Amino acid sequence: MTAQSAAAAARATVYGVPRQGPGRELKKAVEGYWKGRVDAAALHRTAQQLRRDNWQWLAEAGIHEVPTGDFSYYDHVLDTSVMVGAVPARHRAAVDADPLDGYFAMARGNQEVAPLEMTKWFDTNYHYLVPELGPDTVFRADSRAQVAQFSEALALGHTARPVLVGPVTFLLLAKPAPGVAPDFEPLTLLDRLLPVYAEVLADLRAAGAQWVQLDEPALVADRTPAELNAAARAYRELGALTDRPQLLVASYFDRLGEALPVLAKAPVEGLALDFTGPAAANLPDLAAAGGLPGKRLVAGVVNGRNVWINDLGASLSTLGTLLGLADRVDVAASCSLLHVPLDAAAERDIDPQLARWLAFARQKAEELVTLARGLGEGTGAITARLAANRADLASRANSPLAHDPAVRARTAAVTDADHRRSQPYPDRAAAQHDRLGLPLLPVTTIGSFPQTGELRTARADLRAGRIDEAAYEERIAAEIHEVIGFQERAGLDVLVHGEPERNDMVQYFAEQLTGALTTRHGWVQSYGTRYVRPPILAGDIARPEPMTVRWTRYAQSLTERPVKGMLTGPVTMLAWSFVRDDQPRAETARQMALALRDEVLDLEAAGSSVIQVDEPALRETLPLREAGRAEYLAWATEAFRLTTAGVRPDTQIHTHMCYAEFGDILRAIDELDADVISLEAARSHMQVADELGAAGYPREVGPGVYDIHSPRVPDATEVAALLRKGLSAIPAERLWVNPDCGLKTRGWPEVRAALENLVTAAREVREGL
Ligand code: GLN
Ligand code: ZN
Repeated sequence: MTAQSAAAAARATVYGVPRQGPGRELKKAVEGYWKGRVDAAALHRTAQQLRRDNWQWLAEAGIHEVPTGDFSYYDHVLDTSVMVGAVPARHRAAVDADPLDGYFAMARGNQEVAPLEMTKWFDTNYHYLVPELGPDTVFRADSRAQVAQFSEALALGHTARPVLVGPVTFLLLAKPAPGVAPDFEPLTLLDRLLPVYAEVLADLRAAGAQWVQLDEPALVADRTPAELNAAARAYRELGALTDRPQLLVASYFDRLGEALPVLAKAPVEGLALDFTGPAAANLPDLAAAGGLPGKRLVAGVVNGRNVWINDLGASLSTLGTLLGLADRVDVAASCSLLHVPLDAAAERDIDPQLARWLAFARQKAEELVTLARGLGEGTGAITARLAANRADLASRANSPLAHDPAVRARTAAVTDADHRRSQPYPDRAAAQHDRLGLPLLPVTTIGSFPQTGELRTARADLRAGRIDEAAYEERIAAEIHEVIGFQERAGLDVLVHGEPERNDMVQYFAEQLTGALTTRHGWVQSYGTRYVRPPILAGDIARPEPMTVRWTRYAQSLTERPVKGMLTGPVTMLAWSFVRDDQPRAETARQMALALRDEVLDLEAAGSSVIQVDEPALRETLPLREAGRAEYLAWATEAFRLTTAGVRPDTQIHTHMCYAEFGDILRAIDELDADVISLEAARSHMQVADELGAAGYPREVGPGVYDIHSPRVPDATEVAALLRKGLSAIPAERLWVNPDCGLKTRGWPEVRAALENLVTAAREVREGL
């Protein structure tokens, strides 16, 4: 095909859309089903209606090929486990008894069985359920859901393309099942898995599918030669099948790198590549690899995971270059639109000026269609639209809503000294020791205490105007009183106020910062039926007034013991928000850090001797490829230090991260230069302490000794044993006693008992020292 005819054939498509529906109908139906208020038939009807609505708005927008199979009751990776028959033995009976209930048992567990483990989908905030595999896994094709959804779309008259998680990514995301040797590599099951994919592909073809998309985002990470060989083999074999639809192998979230030539050479009919952000490197890489002669290229030129309008002119120029490199070029978002809210037009409270810069899923679909048209018919066909886009972009570039000279002057004036504590750790530690007078193995918590039904009701009542601000604040004050009183009685050493006033650890701050906005309907799936509304960091960030000082000071007024000031760190504020794309993230992080630095200094001035700056997201936004990591960690750790370094030597800075696997960021943890770090460890049996000890971590550490993810209350003997284990790696002068994470999801009775046991254990171990 010539470049002209490739252009003429340009089509717009997407890989997936938000599942929940405009009013989160899916959440309501699924949770209703769990509670027995909605029966299976009604749940299926709701799901069918949502799929139908989604295909309809996509088709009406002009999307030529709609995705199917991207819909899920809970998670598409779990759906893939079901599709290939990878049901763990412990869930088998439930699945056999009732497939839908069995499916939810795999997702959430039940009285008898634990669920699959859940983890982050690459560097997004979506969580998937980790497939569990072992040498005994027997795969068996179950294409029913995929075929049914595809047939639904077909029956409605749509041109549809089933979207599946590809076999290599499925195996690379899996982990050894419980009881299987931890060094078992799921990828060794590839030969067993491919025939199952072959069967599913044949079934989809029989149902009428012309194309099937196989998602292989795992190939954008650094991969070993053996893994790349497995990918080559997988697509050689699937490509060689005779009874199959045409195959489109999709990747996103970064460049394909070494995997690009592998897939380009594979006997498949199309590749879908991301051309946004760091993945823009796919363009020169593709040219260097000789393009995709004879293949279809689906070009992800519209960022599928941010909320900003596309630069249509720039995308058209990328698309124009790509035309010379493939047989046919189609236009797509970089990844599934699952990661963005549904419709920016539903936001009525956002400044209209600023609303022009926003594109959620529906707006992105319109951009894709416009681009396909511009590519196919020439820019003359979209002149007015291009002019409007240029005007919107220009209005953003010049807008005072996005640019605050005072903020810019401040970040420009930051010096190296601003992110260095005035004294080295040993001197600070001595000063803090004198000021705080804590015992060995001090006991503390991570910040939040149970967010009770009453607290949530009070917040809802305030929003609905059923109570006034004063009555709400009285409720909060009473809760803080209760939390402080309990900690004193239980004998904790460093107290917290319990965070009852915070709806969410990011949103609470975003609501008080200039440059950040919150949405009303901007829900994005986090996992299962949990949806979040990430704030949007649209402009320069500033803190007009103190955000936490009042409640912290109130809490401190109730006790002689130190109360920790509690803040969310700059990296986490960015990681759990939609961040502006018109300046480097490092610059936004620096602005955020300076705003939080003001808060830290105000807390210190108000008497706080201990301040915790949480960075649970530091590791999850680590770039997928090694090549980008050093730069990320440099600005991320600098932002943390800029937030915290202004305090006096005798003010103790804590930080917290909730994961046990941090081997790849050990250096970065050290570079935070926090005085104390608390980490998740209860579930990994203090391995954390061993690793930090072995790495020579020089400062204080609180490896979690209470697994807050479980309602189980650890007894004092068990906690004492964990502490003794910790002491073999970290000296008593530097070991803290605390839970794994905040207590907000737990109930009071468990929390009381568990914290009392922590204190008992700490006392017992102290005595033996
Ligand atoms: N301070 C927060 C809390 O306790 C930390 C939460 C987190 O690490 N995710 O809730
Ligand atoms: Zn945590």
